[in-house]
Parts: sequence; C-alpha cells; structure tokens
Amino acid sequence: MSVLLIAEELTLPCHTADPELWFAEAPARLDQARELCGRCPLSAQCLAEAIERREPWGVWGGELFDRGQVVAQRRAPGRPRKDADVLEQIAAAALAERLADSGLLSRPGAAA
Ligand code: SF4
Repeated sequence: MSVLLIAEELTLPCHTADPELWFAEAPARLDQARELCGRCPLSAQCLAEAIERREPWGVWGGELFDRGQVVAQRRAPGRPRKDADVLEQIAAAALAERLADSGLLSRPGAAA
C-alpha cells in the first residue's frame, strides 16, 4: 500500500505542522521539516517512494530533494563560506550513511 494511502489514516507531522516547512527556501526551516520527518512512522517508506517518484522538490522521508535527486543540503543564498566544500563533503557522507542505514544505498566499499 502506498504511503500516501496509509497517510490518510494517520496523524503525520507534515499534516499537522506548517506545510511550508517541507518546501521552504531557508535551510533552517528545511532542517525543521527533516527533524519532524524523523518522528514520522512512515519515514522510511515515504523516502523510498519519493526516490522512486523522483520528487522534484521538498523534504520527503527526512531527506531533501532537488530536481529528483536526494541532496545533502541546499546552498544558502549569497557568497559561499570558505569551508563550504568541507561542509558539503561532511553532509554528503552523512547522507550516504543515512541512505545506507535505510537500505536505499549500498555502503561505500561494500560488495554489491
Ligand atoms: S516522512 Fe515526512 S513527508 Fe513523509 S509522511 Fe512523514 S512527515 Fe510527511
């Protein structure tokens, strides 16, 4: 059964909090949505289905989507920080770990 059908019978964070959080521009608001997704009983299934649908935008299953791809973080407007590359690598590693934990991505170096 699709997460969208199950969701109609449950009280989910994205149905009770400000829905704009899940599609916000500001990284801090997107982090709020991610945190709320972390409390959702459908988080893993929501993420898997969003990946399958190649969601174009927003937070689904606690992960941020941009043009159909799960991305570690959205770049804040303005000039990048001097350590932006390092922060992006840390965020990408954390994302790979979360996806591996959820079974949606194999761990780097693991046999296929
Ligand atoms: S994981 Fe997040 S977006 Fe998906 S149903 Fe739950 S609260 Fe909504």
